[in-house]
Amino acid sequence: MRIKNTEGDFGAIRRRFIKRLKGVYKDITALLKQDTLSREDVENIRNIIHKLAGSGATFGFSGISLGASYCEDYLVRALNEENFKSVKPQLTTFLSVIGELIEFHPDEPVLEVKPRMPLSREAKHVYLLEDDHELAGYIAGELLLDDYQVVLFSSVAEINEAVYKVLPAAIIADIILPEGSEAGIDWVNAINKVIKPPIPVIFISEKGDFNTRLNAVRAGADYYLKKPLIMKQLKQALYESVYKKPYTPYRVMLIDDDQLLAEAFKLDLLHHDINVTIVTEPFNAVEEIERFKPELILLDLYMPSCNGIELGQIIRQWPEFASIPIVFMSVERDVRKQLDAIRLAGDDFLVKPIEPWQLSVQVLARVRRARMINFYQEELATEIAHQKIHDQLTGLPNRNYMELKIHELLSDAKLTKGKLLALLWMDIDNFSHLNDVLGHKAGDQIIIDVANRLSSVLSNSDSLCRLGGDEYAILLNRENGQVDIETFCKEVMALFVAPFKIGSETLRVTLSMGVSLYVEGADTTAHEIIKAGDIALYHAKLAGRNNYVLFSEKMAERLSRNLWLESELRRSIDKDQLDLFYQPKFSADGKQLVGAEALLRWHHPEIGLISPEEFIPIAERSSLITDIAYWVMNSCCYQINVWKEQGVCVPPIAINLSARELEDPDFLNDIVVIPERYNIAPGALQIELTERTVAKQDSFIVNALNRLTSAGFSIAIDDFGTGYSSLKNLQQMPISLLKIDRSFVINVPEDKGNSSITETIVRLGEKMAVDVLAEGVETEAEAAFLQEIGCQYIQGFLYSKPLQSSNFLELIKSHASGIEIV
Ligand code: C2E
Ligand code: CA
Ligand code: CA
Repeated sequence: MRIKNTEGDFGAIRRRFIKRLKGVYKDITALLKQDTLSREDVENIRNIIHKLAGSGATFGFSGISLGASYCEDYLVRALNEENFKSVKPQLTTFLSVIGELIEFHPDEPVLEVKPRMPLSREAKHVYLLEDDHELAGYIAGELLLDDYQVVLFSSVAEINEAVYKVLPAAIIADIILPEGSEAGIDWVNAINKVIKPPIPVIFISEKGDFNTRLNAVRAGADYYLKKPLIMKQLKQALYESVYKKPYTPYRVMLIDDDQLLAEAFKLDLLHHDINVTIVTEPFNAVEEIERFKPELILLDLYMPSCNGIELGQIIRQWPEFASIPIVFMSVERDVRKQLDAIRLAGDDFLVKPIEPWQLSVQVLARVRRARMINFYQEELATEIAHQKIHDQLTGLPNRNYMELKIHELLSDAKLTKGKLLALLWMDIDNFSHLNDVLGHKAGDQIIIDVANRLSSVLSNSDSLCRLGGDEYAILLNRENGQVDIETFCKEVMALFVAPFKIGSETLRVTLSMGVSLYVEGADTTAHEIIKAGDIALYHAKLAGRNNYVLFSEKMAERLSRNLWLESELRRSIDKDQLDLFYQPKFSADGKQLVGAEALLRWHHPEIGLISPEEFIPIAERSSLITDIAYWVMNSCCYQINVWKEQGVCVPPIAINLSARELEDPDFLNDIVVIPERYNIAPGALQIELTERTVAKQDSFIVNALNRLTSAGFSIAIDDFGTGYSSLKNLQQMPISLLKIDRSFVINVPEDKGNSSITETIVRLGEKMAVDVLAEGVETEAEAAFLQEIGCQYIQGFLYSKPLQSSNFLELIKSHASGIEIV
């Protein structure tokens, strides 16, 4: 902002004011020449004089203001009393005051305007005293962008030496430094005693207590910013320290019907780096507020077309203008009226006449505060906008962001050729289980740790989002040829090989991932990309988790196959398509038959045999699983009874139940009475529940187990070793058998990891006085090892695959001599 020849501009306005006085002098003199004054005349005169009272002092004529306001009081009284004769002498006296002024054309008082020094390049020299190197680097980097020359110091000793050689324009100083916990303040205190005028200082500190702040102020701090720093705030503080004016000029709106007066105010405010817009017609005010965005409004109380209070009330009707302070200006000295004005629309009241210096001081203080409030409001608004598209726990962008971003990337990819664009949709395997077993705090920690690992493979153009729960998405955005999608997926999977440390526990956390690729030239929508990712993820889970699957059209078909299977499964029971196979369990040496496990088979007329691995998960997602369980229970009991009737000794048979059924108390009550119906003892049946099911620390599981055992069933824990159950938890449960999961039996003793896990489980069984069985034994070597470490029982293809009921009957008969009861 430049004001050339300031004095001249103001002089011109003064001359125009004197011209106005001449007009007033003439008008009033003419009225006084009449014999009598009408009410209307007196009212007219009052309006003219009112304006003079409010403006005289502004132009340097305090006498006029004073005289006019006395005169106005008098006129008001005369109007009230309807006594218009008495005003003549009073007016004549006031006229003589004006007359004197006009006659003498007095020398206009010279307004003192200090020329501003142009800023030299050295003004950009800033010293930064900060022993946190990372923060110092960050601040310096940001300030360099604004063209400052920043010199870094990490101790008082260093900066002290430098400051006496070259004076900087400002100092940014930390408080806690190697020299002591208030070393920054002590040093500033010391140099301010010597260096005059003092160097502007901005303190930045973690400390926020009153005493430290007070010491900083006493040492002569210009600003005190608490860490974590808001860079925008630091930049503004620095700018104001160096240039002695606001980062951007303040914006003030002046609403006054007296153009001349308004211009006089404006001129003065401009000197203080305040941009001013003048509105003389209240009708235009709102439009101008929208355009100019004032930080403060100065509003004249008395205007002919619409008074200030009315206009203030109208302005206040816009919620977005509600925080702009409105300051009334008026000659009104009646405190009650002032309060009325403030109550209805305004924040403050300035009594006219206002001398220019007075106005700028008043306005500066208020507009500074207004800007500070605006500044925090903006921060808050940015924060809220940030929250809308970010996740609280990890700070990552959320699903809203992802959708927006896919839209953006897609339209970008359609325009520029050669883009590798992919959505990788992930979820943590068995997360709800981990959460149940380890607790929510640990669950949160896992979510954060997984996010950290994932972000380590990203480049700047990629983004990682948390979609909620345990779901994440990576938006891969690379130039073609930069990376191959399969390689990238493998990199992601490799991140989860190393175990996680959560509190005192060490555990493996794995992900399943579905990938949908943008095909160049295809007219794909964001919705289609997301859906494809979701379908691919579903297939990754079906395929056994801890892997990734690229979307293909076939998958959409598979998905519809699953929907079809579900509807077919509903009819399977009635159509007699289900069957039970029996897989024997043997003593570890393979010699004795000790029991069997009933395994479900589905013979579909069109597609043939369907594996339970495929249809059990489908049944578990609907209520079908319960119907199936009833069917299995009944069929198994029926079969045992048939065998018994043939006079053979049937070993205990195990059936598998899922977690879903146990939640239903009716189910439990129903099944405990089923064996009786077939005339068999409940002890002839064992219930297999996976470790995942029992590791849930829900009370209904414990209740269910107790209900089952008290009815006479024994309990086996299936897939043991995969469910993260705690020892304490296990000991409280009525368990008869641990079944080591097949994955830990594979390739023992060759596989050292598996060998030690199997052996640990066997030792655990001994401690708990529970039998241990190894599932899925396929080789002699595995069997020999298991026998050696003391595992009691074995099940697996080595000794027998699951058998049809007739084949199992043969087996029982051939072992008739040595059946041992588990
Ligand atoms: P599971 O309870 O762990 O059953 C063991 C599975 O491993 C069976 O597969 C069995 O055929 C297979 N298996 C046994 N020995 C070996 C071996 O040496 N090598 C290999 N590679 N596999 C072996 P199946 O019958 O396909 O059953 C799969 C899963 O389906 C079962 O796993 C069980 O979780 C579920 N399931 C089966 N029948 C039922 C049922 O009636 N109800 C419920 N809820 N689930 C069932
Ligand atoms: Ca089983
Ligand atoms: Ca199993």
